[in-house]
Amino acid sequence: MAVLLTGGAGYIGSHTAVELLNEGYEVVIADDLSNSSEEAIRRVEKITGKTVSFYRCDVREWEALNRIFADNSIEAVIHFAGLKAVGESVREPLRYYRVNLDAAMTVLEGMQTHGVKRFVFSSSATVYGAECPFPYTEDMETGGCTNPYGWTKFMIEQIVTDTAKATGMSAVLLRYFNPVGAHPSGLIGEDPAGIPNNLMPFVSQVAVGKLKRLNIFGNDYPTPDGTGVRDYIHIVDLAKGHVAALVYAEQHTGTEVFNLGRGSGVSVLELVENFERANDIKIPYVFTERREGDIAECWADTTKAKELLGWTAKLGLEDMCRDSWNWQRQNPNGYDE
Ligand code: NAD
Ligand code: UDP
Repeated sequence: MAVLLTGGAGYIGSHTAVELLNEGYEVVIADDLSNSSEEAIRRVEKITGKTVSFYRCDVREWEALNRIFADNSIEAVIHFAGLKAVGESVREPLRYYRVNLDAAMTVLEGMQTHGVKRFVFSSSATVYGAECPFPYTEDMETGGCTNPYGWTKFMIEQIVTDTAKATGMSAVLLRYFNPVGAHPSGLIGEDPAGIPNNLMPFVSQVAVGKLKRLNIFGNDYPTPDGTGVRDYIHIVDLAKGHVAALVYAEQHTGTEVFNLGRGSGVSVLELVENFERANDIKIPYVFTERREGDIAECWADTTKAKELLGWTAKLGLEDMCRDSWNWQRQNPNGYDE
């Protein structure tokens, strides 16, 4: 069975490709490489010893997308492709709405044209309402997004739900919490362009000496140590969640939504301490102002994924810190040689 991964050269897509290939699926990747490198695909092939069919294209280009469906017997699509920088989405809302909505709708149209019935979508914990109590459960109200990027996830969830209802398609919406870490081989990992916005890649770049010190955004939150709390999940666990979602989509119709997290909160200071301990490295840091738009804490209730997908995160914070560092150390400039 061939699975099309749109945006499959990216961070989450490349790790998911490895898990799918290891499980015996054929993998087809469509990616315009706007935020990734073809080298990631070569490394996926190296890790698995299997080949990937790669199409360099913008999935909004109907002709190119159509050819992919025509050339391959695609039975399911995992849709990762899209723009994902929160701050950029605030500055350029129209670009974010245009690219993310158009990409999702074009892919859904391609599936409809070619009779493909299974769809998995990369959504985010950012769709939950700001007033929702923790931990978040999937039945809580959504629409508390604080930026255009988050709203694109909210809107695409609705578009997918309506399309699945109208066409008999089977759709799984995966709400990721905070994916971090890298494949244990150190061959693939997160390769952000420029200065990282997210905590773990920032910490890794401090560790490798590319950045001087970590700025911790706020130590006066109502959390145990005053720093922000998130639900970090190892990228390999997250990738395996996609395999479980595909199996679920094979057996069900309609739309189902699942949180993919570890189900526990970790503060910024805890993450830094774990990184230092796991890798025997000192991470210099200073406390600075809170980052605008940040919430104090956020973590998932993962009961539904455990019960219906039979999936649960297995790797811990130490594994995340060790594998992030292993990737960064071996690839100080990411995929750039
Ligand atoms: P990423 O940027 O590494 O991967 C996205 C990939 O899509 C990139 O390879 C990029 O080149 C490609 N792409 C972008 N627009 C495209 C287009 N129009 N046509 C073809 N390819 C295109 O990001 P990621 O971290 O792997 O995230 C994957 C998905 O998961 C995204 O939709 C993102 O919004 C979502 N998500 C990510 C996180 C996270 O923390 N990383 C959290 C929640 C949700
Ligand atoms: N954070 C920080 N310094 C950084 C990046 C992030 O202190 O350079 C904090 C941020 O305020 C939040 C946590 O780390 O409490 C996770 O931030 P990230 O951007 O990785 O994830 P998100 O906030 O989008 O969930």
